[in-house]
Amino acid sequence: MAINGKVALVTGAAQGIGRGIALRLAREGADLVLVDLDLAKLQAVADEVWEMGRRATHVVADVGDREQVFAAVAHAEAELGGLDIMVNNAGIAQVKPLAEVTAEEVERIYRVNVQGTLWGIQAAAASFKARGRKGKIINASSIAGHEGYALLGVYSSTKFAVRALTQAAAKELAADGITVNAYCPGVVGTDMWVEIDKRMAEVTGAAIGETYAKFVGGIALGRAETPDDVAAFVAFLAGPDSDYMTGQAPLIDGGLVFR
Ligand code: NAD
Repeated sequence: MAINGKVALVTGAAQGIGRGIALRLAREGADLVLVDLDLAKLQAVADEVWEMGRRATHVVADVGDREQVFAAVAHAEAELGGLDIMVNNAGIAQVKPLAEVTAEEVERIYRVNVQGTLWGIQAAAASFKARGRKGKIINASSIAGHEGYALLGVYSSTKFAVRALTQAAAKELAADGITVNAYCPGVVGTDMWVEIDKRMAEVTGAAIGETYAKFVGGIALGRAETPDDVAAFVAFLAGPDSDYMTGQAPLIDGGLVFR
């Protein structure tokens, strides 16, 4: 219970990795602010957190909208008395050859993955500073933030950008006692990968499930990653054992990309 009584805000918390992180942080003793676009699923995760004996509140917000992100943090302050841990997890993928990507598609994915992370860093840092809290900011990068993948080129560039924001924010906020780190999952069996696999099949002619199986086949530990695998590492980043770590974006991928 290393983070007992802390308040954590998780974006993209309605499903997949974000839900896994929220439930793990609740298990570690945190109260949760759950942010996503999907109200019904958010409500279900909030119910799970309450059943674990922790408090949860949820906010429907688009992380690409700066005002909505600041409003979500204000909600955390009003409902749960402040914020200690900000997990900028929400993200979207896109499968397309670079030659065919449109301006609208680039704007859409950058708005969520890059701007969404930036607004989250800004809103959390402002709250931590105003309340004198040595908070922790934790951002979702990816193996695709360490290596550019074919047909995932623009997505990869957004995840490289998350690492850049993580490093710069760590340097800017260190003097205030705020740490900023990222997590880089590999191949996690969430809806995002169902969609990636489907789109890969359309673009390459592979059978449904083939691309996913090929990627999983490259994992040294021999199985796909689960949201719990990611959440365990995020719990470390959220807790005191990572107090002397900032600006880092380690791979948590079962042995797929080696750096
Ligand atoms: P997912 O698609 O299963 O879930 C993403 C959640 O984010 C959804 O609930 C969705 O509603 C929400 N969301 C999307 N856009 C939003 C917005 N603008 N505002 C608020 N919420 C929004 O995805 P996931 O697999 O759980 O991925 C979570 C994060 O982890 C993403 O940043 C993703 O890029 C990253 N990641 C995933 C994998 C993987 O293999 N699944 C690997 C590496 C990194």
